Amino acid sequence: MCDIVVMYDGYSNLKNKHEMKANCSCTLIKGFHNIVVDTMTSWDRDKIILALKKEDLTVDDISYVISTHGHSDHIGNNNLFLKAKHIVGFSVSFKDDYYLHPFDEGEEFKINNNVKVIPTPGHTLTDVTVLVISNSKETVALTGDLFEKFEDIEDPGIWLDAGSEDEVLQRKNRSKVAQLADWIVPGHGPKFKVTDEIREILLKQIHIQS
Ligand SMILES: [Zn+2]
Repeated sequence: MCDIVVMYDGYSNLKNKHEMKANCSCTLIKGFHNIVVDTMTSWDRDKIILALKKEDLTVDDISYVISTHGHSDHIGNNNLFLKAKHIVGFSVSFKDDYYLHPFDEGEEFKINNNVKVIPTPGHTLTDVTVLVISNSKETVALTGDLFEKFEDIEDPGIWLDAGSEDEVLQRKNRSKVAQLADWIVPGHGPKFKVTDEIREILLKQIHIQS
């Protein structure tokens, strides 16, 4: 059994050429392991504690914290979770113990029967996506900034402007994740349903030269 609670929807809005307002989607997976994915900015500590409280949880009930990549708005409160294993991009650790996992060879990291972490580089070269099988047996992908928001499917300029360290890989992994998932929780927007039309658009975009 796995409950997926998006505690905060991410957002990103350009204020002008040099400034933007942004925070990431922060998600709780409740199940055999309680897992928090992406911990917002360092100024959101109290918001996270409050959202967990609404789920009858404290920070010490969390056994994994996963940051889809190492940018400041996705790691800001990792140090609230001192009983948890930390996965930040391709790096897996607890205290000063590091567990060397071959994400770079494409290998997934299985947390339990319903939750696994797969490498999906592009936005950064060490981005990961969390795949969760929900109570209704649907697959939900917590993608971090592999997908910025729903609108970036029609308008790839949105994810490209958000920064991509490898555009070709990102296009491939966007399409791959859409094939695997029924729902996507993107890095900076509300959760959306993956349709066959979306899968087709993303498949075509692999072949577009940027
Ligand atoms: Zn982000």
